[in-house]
Amino acid sequence: MNHHKLIIIGSGPAGLTAAIYAARAELKPLVFAGLTYGGQLMLTTEVENYPGFHKGILGPELMQNFITQAERFGGEIKYEDVTKVDFSRLRQGFGGQAQKPFRVWSGNTEYTADCVIVATGASTMWLNIPSEEKFRGKGISSCATCDGFFFKGKELIVVGGGDSAMEESLYLTKFASKVTIVHRRNEFRASKIMIARVLDNPKISVMWDTVVEEFFGDEKLKSARLKNVKTNEVLEKPIDGAFIAIGHKPNTEIFSGQLNLDAKGYIVPVGDTKTNVEGVFVAGDVRDFRYRQAVTAAGMGCMAAMDAEKYLEMDHG
Ligand code: NAP
Repeated sequence: MNHHKLIIIGSGPAGLTAAIYAARAELKPLVFAGLTYGGQLMLTTEVENYPGFHKGILGPELMQNFITQAERFGGEIKYEDVTKVDFSRLRQGFGGQAQKPFRVWSGNTEYTADCVIVATGASTMWLNIPSEEKFRGKGISSCATCDGFFFKGKELIVVGGGDSAMEESLYLTKFASKVTIVHRRNEFRASKIMIARVLDNPKISVMWDTVVEEFFGDEKLKSARLKNVKTNEVLEKPIDGAFIAIGHKPNTEIFSGQLNLDAKGYIVPVGDTKTNVEGVFVAGDVRDFRYRQAVTAAGMGCMAAMDAEKYLEMDHG
């Protein structure tokens, strides 16, 4: 029988915290963890700012702990991708009246649920140039809050021209000796106030009309080849670290037409954790482009599970 009270889609800190809470509430949640399970922390090495781990913990180890904790209380984890959902609850022959349950597919297999929590996260956008992947975690990062601390007194570049790039650059000046923003155009798209702060900061300089062509190093990142797209001038710049801040892409393709999404594809929450579909809740980076922290996602996962439990108690289960 493929029916469950609660299906959770996603297995980052939001989805797995929802699973821990829902499992302890004896809802026996089914979690679709995805083929690449664990969310963004699987791409990180040391996590030093997750409360409770005063010596730090490796990202993948932390996520394995989340999974073990969810399973301990009866959460079921499937390492499969959800490929399609139907949240309409309308069935032919019911006169258009809403009928339970929600429908979720993994390939050709259909699962049904009384309630769904969506926690599919957002994926970092990378430059996708040769050598970028090789140095990820060895000098290349996409999260200043996570990794800035490791670059005390170092020279860094930040790639991007939006608010994220501004915020990351400003944050990195707490640690780095020098931050150079590398931006592909001759103006930023960030908000005026953030641009003003960046341009006022003596530790930050900007290379306009410039793109990164390649990263170099051995065990660690050592330099980047930069090209001015207007003059075609090429420069190999020695650097200790590179932060890629060119945006995130929410993982919401399968919810298009089912849930309200904003212009960038993020799920638009209704109040704290609800969506426009009653009985479908949302948590984590898939609805949050601002904080994007494991601990904030986990907090939202907890909230979504508590709201889902309440919803099911109100005779929706
Ligand atoms: P964004 O606004 O989409 O900016 C992405 C930046 O990266 C753009 O400057 C873009 O260049 C550049 N870029 C994109 N693809 C690139 C590529 N392949 N190579 C080189 N450069 C590339 O993304 P974001 O900065 O992450 O912000 C997302 C949303 O979150 C925005 O609405 C933002 O206001 C918001 N946000 C707000 C705050 C805050 O209020 N404190 C902080 C962070 C984010 P072009 O300009 O040439 O397109």
